[in-house]
Amino acid sequence: MFETTIAGSLPKPAWLAEPNVLWAPWRLTGAALADAQHDATLLAIKEQEDAGIDIVTDGEQSRQHFVHGFLAYVAGIDFNRRVEMGIRDNRYKAMVPTVTGEPHLTGRVHATEARLARAHTKRKLKFTLPGPMTIVDTIADEHYNDRIKLAMRFAELLNEEARGLEADGVDTIQFDEPAFNVYLDAVKEWGIAALHRAIEGLRCKTAVHICYGYGIKANLDWKKTLGAEWRQYEEIFPALAESRIDQVSLECRNAHVPIDLIGLLKGKDVLVGAIDVASDQVETPEDVAETILAAARFVPRERIFPCTNCGMAPMRRDIAMAKLSALGAGAALARTRV
Ligand SMILES: [Zn+2]
Repeated sequence: MFETTIAGSLPKPAWLAEPNVLWAPWRLTGAALADAQHDATLLAIKEQEDAGIDIVTDGEQSRQHFVHGFLAYVAGIDFNRRVEMGIRDNRYKAMVPTVTGEPHLTGRVHATEARLARAHTKRKLKFTLPGPMTIVDTIADEHYNDRIKLAMRFAELLNEEARGLEADGVDTIQFDEPAFNVYLDAVKEWGIAALHRAIEGLRCKTAVHICYGYGIKANLDWKKTLGAEWRQYEEIFPALAESRIDQVSLECRNAHVPIDLIGLLKGKDVLVGAIDVASDQVETPEDVAETILAAARFVPRERIFPCTNCGMAPMRRDIAMAKLSALGAGAALARTRV
């Protein structure tokens, strides 16, 4: 009961990439970089294990960004043709590459780190991939000029990689879809259909992570516009409850999301965000246990997986590690109280 996991990413060591920034530049190149990514992956696993995390990840130590780490292996995208685009419904502007031909994979995306992680932990292993809707929201398109067609093509490519990850021994494959909290109608119209295409034929657990973003300024400013109660999940959870996705990862700690909304996810495992990644204040085990037990009023205990609100990539490493320990200890505390 209350098996713990994390949304996906952890901060990278300072010898691997510049700390505390998104899109952090690598410190090394070539074989030295590959070696450093290997070492950082092993450390990420060890630190999760020591913190009492039951379902571990590679900490996303081998990718620079959760979307572009995947796109780097996709042909049909011109990375030299970068255009400025307002993403997440114009919440922020980013220079994004352009799709200029039919996208296809140039090879396996995460085989190296998945096999490495699998060889070095006996715990359950989760791997994250960007979701189709979030990809098309982070890229310009001159080939299809049709977001749905582009999303379905990316869903096919994600499925190809997901099948590979499953064969590598990964237990859970999670698709990160922060865009699901922004384009609520599109989720119901085609977002879930694209996820279904991405999980086709998989036998492992499948998850979707839907958050309000990293703790960067653009997200914090956006959150201020959402009012006292954040009800975006209310729009999309009933559709997700009817989907074939097994697990939903969401934000609870310090979120203005009414906790009872998770009751809409009937029949799903719920990855309850009990760690705020937008604050440097480290939760106590007591805080974590409170969040878990609040969730347990609306979701059966065996379906609750204590988790972080989002990825920890841009955080200070010492703080992230303290938060991981609080997550493990808080889940242990909650187990004694039910
Ligand atoms: Zn997130």
